[in-house]
Amino acid sequence: MKFAPRSAFVGQPGYRLLPMRFRRLPWDESRVLVSSMAGDWMVMPRAEFERVVEGTVAREEALFADLEARHLVMADPAISTLAPLLSQYRTRKAYIERGPCLHIFVVSLRCHHTCAYCQVSRQPVGETTFDLTPEDARHAVDRLFEWPAPDLTVEFQGGEPLLHFERVRTLTKAITERNRSEKRNLRFVIASTLHDLTDDQLAFMRDHRFELSTSLDGPEWLHNANRPRPERDSYRRTIEGIERGRKMLGEHAVSALTTLTRRSLDAPVEIVDEYRKLGFHSISLRPLSPYGFARKTEARTGYSIDDFLRFYRSALDHLLAVNRDGYFMEETYGRLLLSQLFTPFAHGYVDLRSPTGAGLGAVVYDYDGLVYPSDEARMLASMGDRSFALGHVDETVATWLASPVMQKVLEAGVAEALPTCADCAYVPFCGADPIDHYARQGDTIGHRPTSDFCRKQMGLFDLLLRRWEQGTQEEREILEGWAIRSTRREPVGEAA
Ligand code: SF4
Repeated sequence: MKFAPRSAFVGQPGYRLLPMRFRRLPWDESRVLVSSMAGDWMVMPRAEFERVVEGTVAREEALFADLEARHLVMADPAISTLAPLLSQYRTRKAYIERGPCLHIFVVSLRCHHTCAYCQVSRQPVGETTFDLTPEDARHAVDRLFEWPAPDLTVEFQGGEPLLHFERVRTLTKAITERNRSEKRNLRFVIASTLHDLTDDQLAFMRDHRFELSTSLDGPEWLHNANRPRPERDSYRRTIEGIERGRKMLGEHAVSALTTLTRRSLDAPVEIVDEYRKLGFHSISLRPLSPYGFARKTEARTGYSIDDFLRFYRSALDHLLAVNRDGYFMEETYGRLLLSQLFTPFAHGYVDLRSPTGAGLGAVVYDYDGLVYPSDEARMLASMGDRSFALGHVDETVATWLASPVMQKVLEAGVAEALPTCADCAYVPFCGADPIDHYARQGDTIGHRPTSDFCRKQMGLFDLLLRRWEQGTQEEREILEGWAIRSTRREPVGEAA
């Protein structure tokens, strides 16, 4: 991996090199992936790449046109311009200008599940001291509209937000009312188990065009083992909730996420097939995060990133088979990474941005009135570590942005400036996640060579690129199709 030094701009016979990074392909070391500053890329034999760097590619060669089109070289600075490269860079980073679009309201930490991997350290059903108060809710609505974003996704989370639906109701009404003059594009989402959904709640959601995001870990035996309830009926209740939600809100208003425990890793085919059986066209295969009860039970439920990547490879193979069979189904995180490889556009997914999406793409209003720059930050807080609290909901947004916490997040929030990432060929498509690194390594900058975040990112980029490269024409078209569909809305935060 190498970043072309500025001295590389000095005259070469016939052209100048532009900033670039490269990576030897782990599955074929005779070739390299070369990426430009703005995320154009190409794969070429190593010997050819050496000719590029030495400045011996003739302008008449087809290779030269490819290099120029991908902003890797510049013909003659007297007649060429950097404007297209800079314009593309701006397009890819367009999310910076909008301000946070994702606003998570934690209405209660109460929950009736006892999941071993719970990331928010849920509280018992009767513990109403863990509910968002009316006063803090009012402040949160004022803060929401202090942000400049024209599109606002309001996501209600818990615990189980249905256990404090009265607060969901009052917040939704207050936000809708205020929006009569604000005129933003509002989107309401509720992340819930969907158990105990009442007709009255569903009617309210229908009237305010809610989307539902739930957790479905796979077939019944797996879901019930991962998400235990005393009655062992979690799967049945979730399925009923999905069906009722679809009936009332529409087929596409209900999405589901999978959290992978160690026992899930043996069932990639069964998990994908369960989603297909239920008529889902997308699946989200999420490894465990190091927060809440997931950290406490890590020895029992955890696994290595290599194990996760092995699982992902099998799941991807099966997903491709399902698609070849004529049933469209995509994996949401893979789709996001492919969109970064195959399209020039910015994405809305806050965990994979540089500059970081923490505080710039998302804000969390917690049940106790404290405010965090990301869901992970509030998960840390639920474990007793409030290092990333931006302030209280009764303070202004300007106060939060000027806080030392936000400065700390931003200092470690630009991937292109982080050790190892700065030289990585995948950095134009990747992100900085300072809070994840703090949670895993105790430091916001972290150490990429030993970072699970990096191992996952690099592993998935390699896997997807290799699968695309070595796939049949039909498989390549399927993967490119996922990437192009990515102009749709990105998945929102964690399901309950
Ligand atoms: S996190 Fe890893 S894969 Fe991503 S840019 Fe940094 S070094 Fe590359």
